[in-house]
Amino acid sequence: MSGPNYSARRSRLIRSLKSAGVDGLLLTGEANVRYLTGFTGDSTWLMLSSAKTLIISDTRYATQLKDECPDLDVDIRDASCPMAEATAAVVRKAKIGRLGFEADHVSVAVLGGLQAKMDVIELIPTSGLTEKLREVKDKWELQQIRDAVEMAERGIGVVRASLRPQQTEKDVRYTLEAAMRSFGASGPGFEPIVGVGPTAALPHAHAGDLLVSDSPVLLIDWGAETPSGYRSDLTRVFFTGRITKQMQNVYEVVLKAQQKAIAAIKPGVRCRAVDKIARSIIADAGFGKYFGHGLGHGFGLEIHESVRMSPLSDQVFEPGMVVTVEPGIYLPGKFGVRIEDDILVTRDGHEVLSSVPREFDDAIVEYLA
Ligand code: ZN
Ligand code: ZN
Repeated sequence: MSGPNYSARRSRLIRSLKSAGVDGLLLTGEANVRYLTGFTGDSTWLMLSSAKTLIISDTRYATQLKDECPDLDVDIRDASCPMAEATAAVVRKAKIGRLGFEADHVSVAVLGGLQAKMDVIELIPTSGLTEKLREVKDKWELQQIRDAVEMAERGIGVVRASLRPQQTEKDVRYTLEAAMRSFGASGPGFEPIVGVGPTAALPHAHAGDLLVSDSPVLLIDWGAETPSGYRSDLTRVFFTGRITKQMQNVYEVVLKAQQKAIAAIKPGVRCRAVDKIARSIIADAGFGKYFGHGLGHGFGLEIHESVRMSPLSDQVFEPGMVVTVEPGIYLPGKFGVRIEDDILVTRDGHEVLSSVPREFDDAIVEYLA
């Protein structure tokens, strides 16, 4: 499969500049620069206008930029020229009067520096222009995401088959990371969450020193990153000891909420309507106050991308979007259950990209003797 068409992506972005009220755009968000150019380093900005496209970087990246973006003009500054000054010079040369910047990816300090150098050039905040393009994945991106899902699934297979009562959360995390790398991942898609019992009740816990045998509930939220930079994001709960009625009940409520929500995903449906389906099922079961986060999110080059599924989201599903669906119930001090899968919005519905079994019986793990 041929690689991404970066110039087509840039053209689409340039076409959106007019309605954003700017005649040029300065991109400083790392993932956005990567999406538009293929450049995998950092500290590198992209200036776009209908007349001129230019990468602004420094001497450390001169060779890498030639390799990764051979068809792009590059302005390489040396250590004596601050980024803001180099940028102001190229913007003046390109005769841009109203320069958009990425409000979500510029610090107050950087903005101050730019303002000091830009004199007559007007700096206009923009938000989400490239993120909007990134919501819908192309064929090549979808293949990368499928690969990332597969690496993650093979990795968890190793963890499950080798699980032992005396492993700590950290041990499990390292086994998982190493396994995903052995299956071709460049690394985990994010720091895996491995939580036993009460730690599983913290939606964003770090793997610590609890033993797998400290509680019957083990929650793992993990994903892989492909060498091309695309990620996957899954969560499973494993039962490793005596299961209480409450644990089974909570698991089944979460699973029902997830399955009903996934079933509703198709083009034209509002993200918040899908969030509501899951949220109502959890509330009706009496656990409403134990599910505080949004139902899911887009992902790709970053682990959290537009679109968002939450009660506030106005966004509407379109074919090619890829989202997680991850309801959870967290009982403080006791345990938590979250079930997360990766879903592609298709022309007439959706496809569940992840296939790790998720029924209650599948969650029961026998230790290796
Ligand atoms: Zn996750
Ligand atoms: Zn997630």
